[in-house]
Amino acid sequence: FGEFGSGKTQICHQLAVNVQLPRDKGGLEGSVIVIDTEKTFRPERIIQMAEAKGLDGKEVLKNIYVAHAYNSNHQMLLVDNAKELAQKLAKEGKPPVRLLIVDSLTSHFRAEYVGRGALADRQQKLNRHLHDLMRFGEIFNAAVVVTNQVMAKPDTFYGDPTRPIGGHIVAHTATYRVYLRKGKGELRVARLIDSPHLPEAEVVFKITERGIEDK
Ligand code: ATP
Ligand code: MG
Repeated sequence: FGEFGSGKTQICHQLAVNVQLPRDKGGLEGSVIVIDTEKTFRPERIIQMAEAKGLDGKEVLKNIYVAHAYNSNHQMLLVDNAKELAQKLAKEGKPPVRLLIVDSLTSHFRAEYVGRGALADRQQKLNRHLHDLMRFGEIFNAAVVVTNQVMAKPDTFYGDPTRPIGGHIVAHTATYRVYLRKGKGELRVARLIDSPHLPEAEVVFKITERGIEDK
């Protein structure tokens, strides 16, 4: 999670490339399903990142299956479709789905369930959606990556003036949470929060034409 421009979508693109790398290069030799809710997936960006890694951009794109979610119900339905697709790819002997991305998890929910009265409903649906996603990961032995925008809360006078949308449900269902912040220019800071087996830590990275790179 992080505010706009903090690099969530860029990291999703990079992961969609990296998961296809051979295992000795840190990849999983797998394919990717992307549920795009904000129409920010860019094939050109994939080609750029793939070529920076010496891969054939068009080949890399072939293993990325993108679906646009038009509203929150459609978004939830797309997880069922993802299951069917993953099964089909397995049957056809194609690279197995090793990564499912939802970018962003919360934008439709936030837009559709407005006001206090809708909160319980929204949380219940989000909860179900998250469990469907977790289940996908378990069934197919795939990583599930979701993004969540945080907005500045101007009335906060202490601590960090941002908070994740979806609140505790989203926070506690995730195994690893990474908080992204903008630094100067191309620099970004990623902070690992609440990992079951790693200490809290921060790293600085940069977003360049080549993709996500170490500082
Ligand atoms: P939002 O909450 O609005 O979805 P986000 O966290 O998804 O924001 P990204 O779209 O991942 O943000 O990040 C946008 C940043 O990535 C911009 O600062 C932009 O300059 C940088 N960026 C995008 N494409 C490139 C590129 N080809 N080369 C260098 N930097 C790029
Ligand atoms: Mg984005």
